Amino acid sequence: MNAIFNFLKKYALIIVIAFSIGAFAGYKALESLDVQALTNATPVPESLITDKDAFFEILPEGKVLTQKKLTSVDKKAKNIILLIGDGMSISQISSYRLLKGGPNARLSFDKFPISGIVLTHSEDAIVTDSASSATAYSTGKKTNNGVLGLDKDKKFLENLTEKIYKYGFVSSLISTSDITHATPAAFAAHVDSRSKTDDISKQMMESNVMVILGGGTHLFLPEKVGGKRKDGIDLLQEVRSSHTLLTTIDDLNDFDFIDNTKVIGLFADEHLRDIEKPDNHSLEPSLSDMLAFAIKRSLQFNEDGCKGFFIMAEGSQVDWAGHANNINYLKKEMQDFDEAVQNALDYAKESQDTLVIVTADHETGGLLIEPASLTNYTAPEVKFSFNTGIGYGSHTGVPVPVYAYGPGSENFTGTLDNTDVYHAMIEALDLGSQSGSCVQ
Ligand SMILES: [Zn+2]
Repeated sequence: MNAIFNFLKKYALIIVIAFSIGAFAGYKALESLDVQALTNATPVPESLITDKDAFFEILPEGKVLTQKKLTSVDKKAKNIILLIGDGMSISQISSYRLLKGGPNARLSFDKFPISGIVLTHSEDAIVTDSASSATAYSTGKKTNNGVLGLDKDKKFLENLTEKIYKYGFVSSLISTSDITHATPAAFAAHVDSRSKTDDISKQMMESNVMVILGGGTHLFLPEKVGGKRKDGIDLLQEVRSSHTLLTTIDDLNDFDFIDNTKVIGLFADEHLRDIEKPDNHSLEPSLSDMLAFAIKRSLQFNEDGCKGFFIMAEGSQVDWAGHANNINYLKKEMQDFDEAVQNALDYAKESQDTLVIVTADHETGGLLIEPASLTNYTAPEVKFSFNTGIGYGSHTGVPVPVYAYGPGSENFTGTLDNTDVYHAMIEALDLGSQSGSCVQ
């Protein structure tokens, strides 16, 4: 009896690990078989994921954030295209590179001459959400998670599109999610909670942004006609009277570039190219289609006397693929984003007056690239795994990359706080005098 007890004591750890691996493998096996009912009924072995070699540490007392000293830019940019891969850090880019063409494949990101590292923490959390991170990019100020365009005390923060509008620039916002989602919303709205989509859509519509393209028709329609607005307002009707409303890719292609109305494009009830409805997207544009439209539209305003343009285009669903722990979803959205980045870079190389910046708001999913076999690194398969939880993965606090090309790109190197990105964009632009709106 004593011998058995000693044996158990000696090998307790190994026994626990063996059982844990067994349970985890069993769960993964069920999951891979897509036995939805079974996996839903199976308690998720959460501790195996979140507590995997985990250390819970209280961080040292934080210092006050100081703005990075920027190089003063001599050759200024006329225009800026900011591309944000939501939830996209080095591991998402690296995984897509491998899946696209192996380790020696090169993506649009790899062609940028300048790159740096962005720290993403928010005012009240080491792990940010998209709202506070996008607010850092749009205003140069930290705020609490979930907040758009306001500081931690709910004080109004002027955003980049509002500021440059006063100097005679035009702005466009593009996303592959509902256009009221946190990243685009931070460039046009000011609300204390990203969930207040009734307010966000209204504020976006009333903003100075000339072109808004993405999904989210439901958020402009009241519930009684099948929409999601709780305030009962038919905002789509208001959009029709104040803007040119586009709803299909044909509308986008057939647009009359002569008129100078504001444009809102809503190409799906919710997000674009929903993977749950794979056959239903022929009328929905890609990120590249929308970016091409916004560039063309902006150039028309430049010709008519605007000093320059700002476009923010977001690959929104990289983040959702991370939350869903779905590598094929990630690949699909990264492909769409990579193509848009390449198009932006091509445009900037040709025009020589445009700063292109590519970055992310945070990493999502804790994506790892591991050998398929721990004992054989040269095994032909590669293991991609999300490490923040099965099917409900979360954001992480790892930094994200930033890539830059064009006039003013020199400041996007080394380590930047996410708020520094805003200041580096403003430094890059030739704002001139506060000449007022350039749009009649
Ligand atoms: Zn995000």
